[in-house]
Amino acid sequence: MSVANGRQFLAMPGPTNLPDRVLQAMMRPAEELSSASIVDLTDSILADLKQVFRTSGETFVYAANGHGGWEAALTNVLSRGDKVLVLASGRFAIGWGEMAAFMGADVEVLPGTWRAAIDPAAVEARLRADTGHAIKAVLMVQIDTASGVVNDVPAMRRAIDAAGHPALFMVDGVASVGCMPFEMDAWGVDVAMSASQKGLMSSPGLAFVAANAKALAAHKTATMKTLYWDWSSRMDTVAYMKHCGTAPEHLLFGQRAALDMILAEGLEAVWKRHALLAGATHAAVSRWAEGQSLAFNITEPAQRAPSVTPVIVHGFDTAAITDYCRDICGVQLGIGIGELGGRAFRIAHMGHVNAPMVLGALGAVEMALQALAVPHGSGGIAAAVEYLGAATA
Ligand SMILES: *Cc1c(COP(=O)(O)O)cnc(C)c1O
Repeated sequence: MSVANGRQFLAMPGPTNLPDRVLQAMMRPAEELSSASIVDLTDSILADLKQVFRTSGETFVYAANGHGGWEAALTNVLSRGDKVLVLASGRFAIGWGEMAAFMGADVEVLPGTWRAAIDPAAVEARLRADTGHAIKAVLMVQIDTASGVVNDVPAMRRAIDAAGHPALFMVDGVASVGCMPFEMDAWGVDVAMSASQKGLMSSPGLAFVAANAKALAAHKTATMKTLYWDWSSRMDTVAYMKHCGTAPEHLLFGQRAALDMILAEGLEAVWKRHALLAGATHAAVSRWAEGQSLAFNITEPAQRAPSVTPVIVHGFDTAAITDYCRDICGVQLGIGIGELGGRAFRIAHMGHVNAPMVLGALGAVEMALQALAVPHGSGGIAAAVEYLGAATA
């Protein structure tokens, strides 16, 4: 018997739940592509993205998903044959590196583990050894959505500086911008990228890139450039050029509404809400893990992401758990990917989510554990409620 009818809930790490206000903003006719309202819309989004990335640098918006954002970031600052150091901490960092290799970069992967954050000391040591400064860019993911780790962005900048290395520091913030502190300028990130459909609460289809002065200087001599992604032409004053063609109007309508919601709540409050809902999730998973069948993928609590929690399952079929949650409860969890493929499920708590949404998703997981007779410590939901009750008091 299913109790899934009612509002379907996405507890997977992207796409995330679209606010009604975002859906409503998209339900309107297209407009003349260089009308004053479309020009203003583009300019307002580019300006507000600076607030979201916390930068006074340049921002760019592309009709693309996160992978497009990766390509946009790389193509604008690299030349064929440039050496790039990829800091591996999960599937996404590796994927960004594979894209760089496909584009003609000479990619070196600094191996990491899927269970912990990247060690800044290892990065510093690798960069110190690069005495000829062959490495042109360091690629890191702030939250790797596959492993559920948070990498320490300011610590990595300190490591690069300690090595006295001039490489560009490029950060993927797809699963972290709008979910936790991200301070592009204060942390010395040269190129940052994100996408619309996770913490930024809008439809899949927009990629965002931010570049500081150092990145814009590298752009001048980069030869991997292609016209669609090209920053120079997008910095033109003519609106049509800012999108290299027709604006993706409806995606922009939706993103405008989502940014209005995020900025009205206040970025700090948004980050805090994510931290609290992650804390509730961690409280529930900790309790379940007492049954010895479930475990956090990330062992060190401080390195667990505030936007997604991968849970390793020992001795049980993870698909049975995710199928149960979808079919019986109407909750779509994330499946394990990469090294965690078939071995974990992922609970997302990012974007347009509040206490009843996350507690509801956790309740569905606890139902599944009970129904499928997966040994687990009881009282996960009670622990989550207790945590939130205390943390919001
Ligand atoms: C989802 C995600 C991506 C890829 O985004 P797509 O829109 O699926 O291309 C890249 N990096 C991170 C960290 C992600 O979570």
